[in-house]
Amino acid sequence: MTVPKSHPRYESLMKRDKLIDAYKSGMVAEAGMIAHGRGEAFDYLLGECTIPEAEEAEMAAAALLLSAKNPVISVNGNVAALCPEALVELAEAIPAKLEVNLFYRTDERMKKIVKHLKDHGAKKVLGLKPDAHIPDLEHARGLCTNEGIFTADVILVPLEDGDRVQTLRKMGKTVIVIDLNPLSRSAMAGSVTIVDEVTRAIPNITELARGMKGHPVPKFDNAANLRRAIDRITHSLFEIRCVFK
Ligand code: ATP
Repeated sequence: MTVPKSHPRYESLMKRDKLIDAYKSGMVAEAGMIAHGRGEAFDYLLGECTIPEAEEAEMAAAALLLSAKNPVISVNGNVAALCPEALVELAEAIPAKLEVNLFYRTDERMKKIVKHLKDHGAKKVLGLKPDAHIPDLEHARGLCTNEGIFTADVILVPLEDGDRVQTLRKMGKTVIVIDLNPLSRSAMAGSVTIVDEVTRAIPNITELARGMKGHPVPKFDNAANLRRAIDRITHSLFEIRCVFK
């Protein structure tokens, strides 16, 4: 599809195109397209920009990843399709491991995502040979590697589902969630929740991490930060409502 750069929804249309291509190639599941739509709706309400609450969460995330013994970035089809280079850059900047971990896991989809990440510069991607299992998650969803997710102390899970976040928390891990929906179960269950679009959030964390090596982890109150993000959405809806006197 040819969309002129001047189109007001250029960025959004380009992201949709990437997802459609990734869906056609088998990297993204059907449900991934629906999940993206839900994210877009919340991004609209946030003004399609990184809000100050997200910036604060991104700073905490960068510091936590840098201070971790075994930091891991969990990758699904949507994230791999939308920002593969940014994932690789973040993994190198920390340094952190990349592990593909899917809700709709098939061997074929796993291989395609691993290849896609390697085509975009990843040297090593975990996930294809699972040798551990996240407790309480039924068979395929719980598969992971001992080197990566199973033993991670800090894990970044962009676009995750709520029960996996809760289970990872129960395992004692610090879980950093990226989710445009501050009301999702994942957002509420995260240790640090970044209410931002993933293609903005990942490069922001990388840039912050590059300038923060050796810095202490700042104090961060996830519930308070989420409340402020929700207040911001409420306020912006009220402002819009006022236009229709
Ligand atoms: P939960 O179990 O946490 O309540 P859910 O079932 O609402 O999750 P899923 O379909 O598992 O949601 O995951 C999609 C989530 O990811 C949605 O909450 C959506 O807002 C968010 N999302 C989708 N695309 C993006 C994106 N590009 N950047 C950030 N968040 C996104």
